Amino acid sequence: MEGWKKTACVLCGNGCGLEVLVENNRIVKVRGDQDSPLSEGYVCRKGLNVAYHQHNKDRVLFPLKRVGDRFERISWEQAIKEIAEKLKDIVGQYGPKALASLAGGGEFSFLSIPFLIRLVRRLGSRYHYSAANQEFAGRYWAHGLTFGNQNIQMEADFEQSDMLLLIGKNPLMSHHFPQARRKLTQMAKDPNRLLVVVDPRPSETARIADIHLPIRPGTDALLLKAMIAIILDQGLYNQKYLDEHTEGFDQIRSWFSGFDVQGALRVCELEYPVVLKVCRELAGRRSSILDDLGILMNRHSALVSYLIVVLLALCGRIGVPGGNYLLGGGSRPVSKE
Ligand code: SF4
Repeated sequence: MEGWKKTACVLCGNGCGLEVLVENNRIVKVRGDQDSPLSEGYVCRKGLNVAYHQHNKDRVLFPLKRVGDRFERISWEQAIKEIAEKLKDIVGQYGPKALASLAGGGEFSFLSIPFLIRLVRRLGSRYHYSAANQEFAGRYWAHGLTFGNQNIQMEADFEQSDMLLLIGKNPLMSHHFPQARRKLTQMAKDPNRLLVVVDPRPSETARIADIHLPIRPGTDALLLKAMIAIILDQGLYNQKYLDEHTEGFDQIRSWFSGFDVQGALRVCELEYPVVLKVCRELAGRRSSILDDLGILMNRHSALVSYLIVVLLALCGRIGVPGGNYLLGGGSRPVSKE
């Protein structure tokens, strides 16, 4: 296997297309794959250094079995046979609920997680654990309440948006979506599009944004509640969308009436006129919102996730072009009971 080969980067969930030059069965050069419909030649520095991971001396290349206080190399056939027998024993003796999978978000696991989840589901278990249990617990709860299923993810159709609001997210460094640097830089340079970043720190993304709200750490829920109150007070909300696509809004409306917006923004250490402008733009434009661990690993992550859904629904921005869209929902496990 020599010469330039097409492959994909597995170092994060974006799956950028790569072309690697292989000599003596080792990667010696890497470049972005222009033919990849996802990444169109884009590659970040992790992807360019994929050879470091591929050929790392500490990488485990074959099954290891614990024998006493050390590990012994065994064949793949033996490993698969022993694991299969053990799984059958557990399910037979205790039922499928005794089984769970655990997977991290580290290098290379993005490729294998779907297979692991499928295996466990086919054995009748619905229990899967990963870093996401910690990272996204608040969001899962909020989406379960608002969309009816905790497994529903909300993403931004921001390529069609003319405004993107980022909260606790720095995609210039952490990506999250394909070609993050390229696409956000294009957006920031486009005079007809608006990039707004809520971040206590002048992050790399905040530095190219049209508006940066340097919020006091941990006050995101207050800001979001203030924004909802402003949009309601100023009549900026989309009543037609609320009537056609939501239910129960009247039950929560009173939470926001009479809210001390100015006082809340003082706590957030933000200027009212700037927040008012952001609210007007959000309600009036083809806008979308993306949040991330900056708020999800912060105080009130469940409340913040909930308020983001309310804010988007008020502006009529869920399930519309250039807005936020819903993904997944997960399939039910195959029951063996
Ligand atoms: S963004 Fe970087 S780490 Fe993620 S898939 Fe693309 S090249 Fe790999």
